[in-house]
Amino acid sequence: MATLLLHHSVFANHKTSAGHPERPDRYRAVQAVLGQSQFDTLVREQAKVADLDTTRYVHTNRYVDALEAARPDEGYVYLDGGDTMMEPSTWEVVLRGVGATIQAVDKVLDGEVQNAFVACRPPGHHAETERAMGFCLFNNISIGARHAQKKHGLMRVAIADFDVHHGNGTQEIFYSDPSVLYASTHQMPLFPGTGAARETGVGNIFNAPLAPGDGGAELRDAFEDRILPALNTFKPELIIVSAGFDAHERDPLGSLRMTADDFAWVTRELMKSAETNSQGRLVTVLEGGYDLQGLADSVSAHVGELMKG
Ligand SMILES: [Zn+2]
Repeated sequence: MATLLLHHSVFANHKTSAGHPERPDRYRAVQAVLGQSQFDTLVREQAKVADLDTTRYVHTNRYVDALEAARPDEGYVYLDGGDTMMEPSTWEVVLRGVGATIQAVDKVLDGEVQNAFVACRPPGHHAETERAMGFCLFNNISIGARHAQKKHGLMRVAIADFDVHHGNGTQEIFYSDPSVLYASTHQMPLFPGTGAARETGVGNIFNAPLAPGDGGAELRDAFEDRILPALNTFKPELIIVSAGFDAHERDPLGSLRMTADDFAWVTRELMKSAETNSQGRLVTVLEGGYDLQGLADSVSAHVGELMKG
């Protein structure tokens, strides 16, 4: 079966302030590399605008309504110091990010494709129930997980996160919910400061922090010792991945030393876990990755693996 790519030209909107690492060129770099001939057999779909109510699966009405009301007609509105902002195009961009994630979940669970990659920006995993944070407004993957439960009746959904930053928002949203497993590798110490191994929720949170300077060997240990066994015990019916590529050795925001080959390895391992536990059903959603070359190489390796499924 095929691999689905969700994309849309609006993901090159949402213009951030000068010098901001989360910038439109990130999306252009991803689009350029996935335009190469080895990706010709991807099934490509345009990301749709989500129904705003789907964001209420994980965010409070107060938060969603305040965000909608904050949309500027010009200039920027800052939501989290200088990190997280809205400009006039942002609302459509973030609703298409949510929409694309939901589309990917639908197509994979309907059996139309084996797996899917959502090429969107900005990222989502720092957005909490009631707080925009760390470039993130809506928590795309968490909304996707809830959608899989509410609309497709799934009992158990797992979220794996290999972004260099801990997905504090995803952890917070599901911290007391045994129906969603959250497993993360991330650098520690680093923004946002959460993600210690002792943060275990109701036995559904598995944090495997890595030290600055760690590379592929430590990533493999973390997955083989902690994350993959947790997935096998949990037996998810769907695995959703926060696919951030800022653990790449070239990335300016982190100090881990992953290479594109390491991201290919972790992708393959998550695919094997999905084959064992969830009929191969895997949805991956772009999170971080702020060095354009490192991002392009990593996305190429990641999607190349997905297509071998
Ligand atoms: Zn990140």
